Amino acid sequence: MSGKILIVDDVATNRIVYKVKLGAACYAPILAADGKTCLALARQEKPDLILLDLVLPDMPGTEVLRRLRADPATASIPVVVFSAEGDAASRLAALAAGADEFLTKSCDDQTLLARLRNLLREHEAIAELESGGAPIRALGFAEPVSGFEMPGTIALVTHRPETALRWRRDLEPQMPDKMILISREVALSETALSPVPDVFVIEYDLADPLGGLRLMSELRSRSQTRHAAICIVKQNDGSGGKALAFDLGANDVVYATEDPREIGLRISRLLQRKRTTDKLRASVRDGLRLAVIDPLTGLFNRRYAVSQLADIAAQAKDARQAFAVMVVDLDRFKEVNDHFGHSAGDAVLTEVARRLAANIRHGDLLARIGGEEFLIALPNTNLAMAGPIAQRLCRSVQEEVFAVPGFAPLGLTASIGLAICDPGVSWANEPVAAVIDRADQALLIAKSGGRNQVTISKNAA
Ligand code: GH3
Ligand code: MG
Ligand code: MG
Repeated sequence: MSGKILIVDDVATNRIVYKVKLGAACYAPILAADGKTCLALARQEKPDLILLDLVLPDMPGTEVLRRLRADPATASIPVVVFSAEGDAASRLAALAAGADEFLTKSCDDQTLLARLRNLLREHEAIAELESGGAPIRALGFAEPVSGFEMPGTIALVTHRPETALRWRRDLEPQMPDKMILISREVALSETALSPVPDVFVIEYDLADPLGGLRLMSELRSRSQTRHAAICIVKQNDGSGGKALAFDLGANDVVYATEDPREIGLRISRLLQRKRTTDKLRASVRDGLRLAVIDPLTGLFNRRYAVSQLADIAAQAKDARQAFAVMVVDLDRFKEVNDHFGHSAGDAVLTEVARRLAANIRHGDLLARIGGEEFLIALPNTNLAMAGPIAQRLCRSVQEEVFAVPGFAPLGLTASIGLAICDPGVSWANEPVAAVIDRADQALLIAKSGGRNQVTISKNAA
């Protein structure tokens, strides 16, 4: 984390004080004295966070915020509004304009630094997801942005039910989301927690002091709640503790006495962030999937198969075990397309994929490496074992007819070229491309020998 922080304040001494404080905490501060400079530096320098004063000579801080949020280049930079006064109206205006946090200048350094660490961490996690998704978006696989959001689920976890009821009464009129009142036990239950909440609002001291923070750590360690947003609600009893909650990973910490509208705005922000990161995570996952999966059959694609085959070969070499590679090619498949159409051909390919998958073991590799061509690799398999498997695969295509919508079922066969790498017979340090090549040569012989058969290339010369 580089921690480049843009400090925006019209008072020179304030700028210097915070420059020194943040510099001492190993951040790299940059300075702006007005809104225009802030906007320019935000674009140019891409700071990791902006500390923004509300009163600026050229435009109000809320206007700076609005412009930052409206520009895609700066929209996701965390902004902490840092103001001399913290009256309810300016707090609400700043949060509504897109501030991530509102702190008064009387805020203690420990809390300030903990909040900065916390927001910087969140920002870095989002940036990482974004960089993972960028190549996918560039390829045009990104989902279109939909304007409509389904209501989210917000869980309220308190020691006394009446506290949660009061929170719900305050928050419900402000947002369309579903509020559920749950106990600590339900929050941690894999089965009882349904739907899994997007946001948890948790009392700082649940049944015992720090109970809320412990629950937060538990939720973070469980896969189903790991990515939920967490807002801790604390009594403003002068005991501190906000910094601790931020450092332990709370996405926000509010005082119970805060204006309910402010708490509502903060929770809405958490929900929105959660949705953004969920979408980013999904697009990275889909992108990864698209990179290795053939969309028609759901099998691995050629690129992935070749890399996996290299792993299988390396393991076989280490363990001095044999492995087998097959290339399966459908016989006269072009005729299926020619007579019944391309979609019938697609349906047949999908069914062939299903049959091949059903006839191999769990750890075997199955991929579609060409139009009607499949590759199968069997780790720890010698000729005596691979021969019958290849015969079985060949039969699995021939034995049952294929249903084609709108036509009578049709019969089809496949030819298979089988190559074995067996160190027990003669160890050749054969590259995987050469093994596939041998399987291809064997396949050609199977084709010229009349199709619907298996031909074996036993080992490299
Ligand atoms: P052979 O027995 O010699 O293998 O004959 P063949 O007709 O199977 O082989 P050829 O290579 O001449 O034709 C393969 C056909 O596979 C051509 C193409 O129309 C079809 N094909 C390739 N990819 C797809 C696909 O994704 N969907 C469909 N429906 N057909 C495909
Ligand atoms: Mg063919
Ligand atoms: Mg072919």
